[in-house]
Amino acid sequence: MSAEPAHFTTRALHAARVRETASARATPIYLTAGFEFDDFDHAAEHFGTGAGFGYTRTGNPTVRAVERQLAELESGADAVMVASGQAAVSTALLTVSGAGDHIVSSAHIYEGTRGLLLDNLARLGIEATFVDDIADPDAWRAAVRPNTRAFFAESIANARNDVLDIAAVSRVADDAAVPLIVDNTLATPYLVRPLEHGASIVVHSASKFLAGHGSVLGGVLVDSGRFDAARTGHNAPHLVLPGRGGLPSIAARHGGNARIAYARESVAPRFGASPSPLNAFLIGQGAETLGLRVQRQSQNALEVARWLAAQDAVESVDYAGLPSHPDHATAARYLQNGFGSVFTFTLRGGLDAARGFVEGVRLFTHMTHIGDVRSLVLHPATTSHALRTVEERSRLGVHPGTLRLSIGIEEVADLIGDLAQVLLTLDETAPTEAVA
Ligand SMILES: *Cc1c(COP(=O)(O)O)cnc(C)c1O
Repeated sequence: MSAEPAHFTTRALHAARVRETASARATPIYLTAGFEFDDFDHAAEHFGTGAGFGYTRTGNPTVRAVERQLAELESGADAVMVASGQAAVSTALLTVSGAGDHIVSSAHIYEGTRGLLLDNLARLGIEATFVDDIADPDAWRAAVRPNTRAFFAESIANARNDVLDIAAVSRVADDAAVPLIVDNTLATPYLVRPLEHGASIVVHSASKFLAGHGSVLGGVLVDSGRFDAARTGHNAPHLVLPGRGGLPSIAARHGGNARIAYARESVAPRFGASPSPLNAFLIGQGAETLGLRVQRQSQNALEVARWLAAQDAVESVDYAGLPSHPDHATAARYLQNGFGSVFTFTLRGGLDAARGFVEGVRLFTHMTHIGDVRSLVLHPATTSHALRTVEERSRLGVHPGTLRLSIGIEEVADLIGDLAQVLLTLDETAPTEAVA
């Protein structure tokens, strides 16, 4: 600026410009669209190499700090944050596939992911095959085609609480020279870290347990850093062929981190679902207490599931922590610190009982969300799974009397007390009848 004192409006804009760094203990929130370059060459270097920070859509120190934190928690090499869990799934799938490619997916996945595959990626020329019996490695193997580019599954799936045999499915994916992408939202890295069992990429809706407070949306992809160009490069030409303008390939520049580098440099910033640094900060704050919360939530959920299973009004409880669950042995093998907080149970009284339950609970919040510190309830058949046919819902474990719970960190005695009072009112008002 000139030696002349600037005018009032100009001073208002420039007086607070910060250049010094300080060692804040909490992650500073860099709520800024972009970053000042030191000089002419610095700008050119940033554009040439991608090093440092230029514009928040391509990188931000707050977001970067939380990416490192989440990569660490998932035992990954590196992570990319995006604006939502849906963005994490779409970014991961667009990182490994394009028009003419094929994805093998578990049939037991989040409805938003299923819609993405069926409606949106299909229109971009990316086909999907859904595997129903996800516990059978041969079912995965049989779905592989020459143009298959990835496997996709959830570590713990809603609504039946299926638990993925990550190592077994990873081996099949590995034989096909494609990455296994695992949505680890329901399990969280406190219970299982899929990359330690052979998965290549983990995705999360950070809106759920990672944040835990239910105040922001966010998503993250974490990569194992084990991309092997020599062995699997034929299934990832975009990573091993030279880039535009004669640039060396992504694999030549980033080696084992080629996939996550491509997600960071190309897919996430171009499709543009960038996270707000403020939201990233709030997710990082939440993730600091992830273990304590999920430990408590898992303990509470197990007690609530056991209690429900003993009630006459309850037909079934689909919680992998119960020995009666078909995947209990798999769950006991993979889930080291508890069985998670989200599960479904089915009331004998069908739709009427489900309505009475949702409207009668006092502590459980009725909403479409999971992983909150507060306990939540939703009726899947009329909400998340409303677009499915009756037969499909039944196969997925969603019946008229099925309710989904996400157990919070309240005193479990209070939660059970609330459930007891509502089941009592159901007994009085709606005599038990068989579910159609
Ligand atoms: C919520 C959820 C998503 C989508 O995440 P958003 O943050 O809501 O976009 C994806 N997968 C699973 C398993 C989820 O529960």
